Amino acid sequence: MSLLAPSYFRGRRAEMLEDLRQMVLLESPSTDKAGLDRLGEWLAARFVAAGGAVERLPQAAAGDHWLVSWGSGEGGTLLLHHIDTVHPVGSIAEMPWRVEGNRAYGPGALDMKGGIAVTLGALQALHDAAVTLPAPVRCLLTSDEETGSRTSREPIEQWARRHEWIFCLEPATAGGALKTGRKGTGLFTVEVVGRAAHAGNNPEEGVNAILEMAYQIPRIHALAQPARGTTVAVGVIEGGTRTNVVPERCRVRLDVRVVDREEQRRVEEGLAALRPVLEGARLETRGGWNRPPMSRTPAIAAAFARAARIGASLGLELREASVGGGSDANFVAALGAAVLDGLGPIGDGAHSPHEFIEIDSLADRAALLAALLTED
Ligand SMILES: [Zn+2]
Repeated sequence: MSLLAPSYFRGRRAEMLEDLRQMVLLESPSTDKAGLDRLGEWLAARFVAAGGAVERLPQAAAGDHWLVSWGSGEGGTLLLHHIDTVHPVGSIAEMPWRVEGNRAYGPGALDMKGGIAVTLGALQALHDAAVTLPAPVRCLLTSDEETGSRTSREPIEQWARRHEWIFCLEPATAGGALKTGRKGTGLFTVEVVGRAAHAGNNPEEGVNAILEMAYQIPRIHALAQPARGTTVAVGVIEGGTRTNVVPERCRVRLDVRVVDREEQRRVEEGLAALRPVLEGARLETRGGWNRPPMSRTPAIAAAFARAARIGASLGLELREASVGGGSDANFVAALGAAVLDGLGPIGDGAHSPHEFIEIDSLADRAALLAALLTED
């Protein structure tokens, strides 16, 4: 049986599942530095056992990041992972680790501890078989992806520039496709400043910020262009103080998703061009883009073609898809890099209490990754 065959990795399924169980039990929400560092230290030891050289990248305001290297120099492959989850400490009591048939459940099992288990499985197998890697391989394990990668963006971009291929081990789509396109994400706040007045005695002296916002919301939503992949959604509204006061302030927060730079610009200009309807009202727009769109560039198309060819040689039929959610692959794609995302396991329910992976997909993905790291 060939080392790289999915069937070989199926024989190592218990090992990969045990890695995943250990990671899930070490709860690691983005905001819990102590929990993140505990998981990071466990991973550091685990990656050393797989032959990696581990470097800790200490952070004051977030969990520490970790860089693991096999070989030195530039070129080769960078593997991106985040160790944080959206699930607060204690979630494990409500959504305990459990295996049912082909599914493994638990906080972060899919997003994205399952992807880390794939990387560990692939590199441990190559290490055990004393395979010499033809080019350097590095893993980044970062702690703040779910909150916008504020402290990890810089090391991610810095290391991405030094490698030929970048693979992000985020989960596959529910149907198992790799991700070759992701929308860019913007978070904006639009605030109306009106003028407060007594609602009964002198309402004419007031400027009702809530009424003004009611005029603006349809204009904001009109910036969406579903046919071009652009969505705009006002998700939060707050304003006013008491019923007998003409409200001075009203604020909305919106989520914007775009597939390309032109749409990014169009929405920005549209928000900047909003003008108040009521005399005396003022509009303030704040916020911006958290992640640029990941468009299917020629470099990304070539990376997918290579993965599909190598996958086919293993009997794995790979498909690709574009998705609405962003990841750290967006930053890397904006640098022009050959990045592929969704190399983690198949599953469903990310960010929800019923998040799970399909256990069979651990072996297929580990086989694919091991082949991507060793074949031309
Ligand atoms: Zn994720």
